[in-house]
Amino acid sequence: METSIALFGPPGSGKGTQAARLRDELGFVPLATGDLLREARSTGSDLGRRATEYMDRGELVPDELIVAMVGDEIGQADGSPVVLDGFPRTVAQADALADVLSAHGRELTAAVLIDVPDDVVVERISGRQQDRADDRPETVRERLHVYHRQTEPLVAYYDERGLLRRVDGLGDADSVTARVRAALG
Ligand code: ADP
Repeated sequence: METSIALFGPPGSGKGTQAARLRDELGFVPLATGDLLREARSTGSDLGRRATEYMDRGELVPDELIVAMVGDEIGQADGSPVVLDGFPRTVAQADALADVLSAHGRELTAAVLIDVPDDVVVERISGRQQDRADDRPETVRERLHVYHRQTEPLVAYYDERGLLRRVDGLGDADSVTARVRAALG
């Protein structure tokens, strides 16, 4: 069965960077819900219009919109290993992911938590070029709250299912990649 892994962690934890490395080094197809939403927004699609208000406030886009979008994309990755970046972000999304994967003859291989403390998140995002509207300091704080409230329950969820791999997200990207690869075994 093709490998399917999910990367999760707070904003600024480096999920996108690590997903790109898994693509380059191991041939994974990355599926980043944040990127897909920004793309939907720039093309002015119905999904994009509905997602915008949530994204700008730093809140999560409603599960049903996200799950439908991911279902379409996973179908297109048939036959390749996939790395989900930024999905699932709620327990409801995690349940839906299990169904979507099974509909495509797949199941989740591992859920990798990229662990970075809040103060480092704030420092990293305020230090990078802020070309995203949601990188304003007050929105970053809201995204962190949302992470702790809605996404962190996935740590226990995946731990109970034996799928959790916890990786230290501090240090340079190469070291984190080495840890992610080690965690995938
Ligand atoms: P980050 O991980 O740095 O917050 P993303 O690009 O993954 O950045 O997400 C940006 C925004 O897109 C989120 O704040 C949220 O509004 C929306 N989003 C992305 N993925 C999801 C998801 N799985 N469920 C709900 N909303 C999402």
